[in-house]
Amino acid sequence: MGPTNIALVKLFRADQNLRIAQERYDTAARSVRILERKVADLTGKLTFSQQTLREQQAAAANLDLDLTMREAHIEKLRTQQQQAKTNKEYQIFLTEINTEKVDRNRVEEDAIRALEVVERTQGEVKGLQGQLDEEQKKLTDVKAQLGGKLSELQVEIDQLKPAREDAFNDVPPRAVKEFERLAERFEGEAMSALEKPDRRHEEYVCGACQMTLVVDVYNRLHSRDELVTCPSCGRMLYIPEELPPEVAVNKAKEVKEPRPKKEKAVSKSGPSVGARINRQSSAEDVVNSVTIEEDSEETAPAAGSGSDTNDQPPAEA
Ligand SMILES: [Zn+2]
Repeated sequence: MGPTNIALVKLFRADQNLRIAQERYDTAARSVRILERKVADLTGKLTFSQQTLREQQAAAANLDLDLTMREAHIEKLRTQQQQAKTNKEYQIFLTEINTEKVDRNRVEEDAIRALEVVERTQGEVKGLQGQLDEEQKKLTDVKAQLGGKLSELQVEIDQLKPAREDAFNDVPPRAVKEFERLAERFEGEAMSALEKPDRRHEEYVCGACQMTLVVDVYNRLHSRDELVTCPSCGRMLYIPEELPPEVAVNKAKEVKEPRPKKEKAVSKSGPSVGARINRQSSAEDVVNSVTIEEDSEETAPAAGSGSDTNDQPPAEA
């Protein structure tokens, strides 16, 4: 593959590694986050209940004061009644006392109801406080258990960031923009490896969506520095290590024989993306031999799953 595609694959892998680490952290931190949310929720409810309780207690105290004053007033009227000089005066006090008593009884009922409300809210506050204490204890325990693990995972993330950053800077701006667009769309899975389902047939599929691809996709990725996307899912395609030319193209023996050492080097370059850069010097040779082989291989087009572009790659290359 050309330098842009090599840089893209490097970015893709560094990005995937970082995403995996981030996901591990998020999964581990989830229990903490859930408990933190519960604690915050309960704290809010408790604060509200406590505020309500204070208001209800103030209202009950006012009614209590009102009641005391009314009782004092009735006592005073009774005293005055005792000192009444005429029966008429006595009757007037009696009527007033009875009216006051009706009001007093009403206030007393209100005061009793207010106390009931206060007691109910006190129960609520107590219950919430209990729940909050419980969740807070759980949170402390989980944090103690996870603390070490979370910081380990954070260290891992921090260590992976520079590699992703470097890889990002190595990709040309236009390609990096496309990469980011696709990464956003596919939750990081911006690229898809070519797959060759049947070793005997020169047929490739998109590793992500399994769409059958035109046969020249391998040559285009291998010999030119183009961005090639899957026509079905839209991901950028790349050649994985396990699909070197001698595996990817038919009649591997014919390719291998002329330069066995170089071909071996290509197949060994597998896991390291960096090694792919070194192989660029020989890539053209490999492709040339692939092209020659395809030209001379009469059965090659027929093996290409009936795709109408089977006979194009040699002509273009
Ligand atoms: Zn696809």
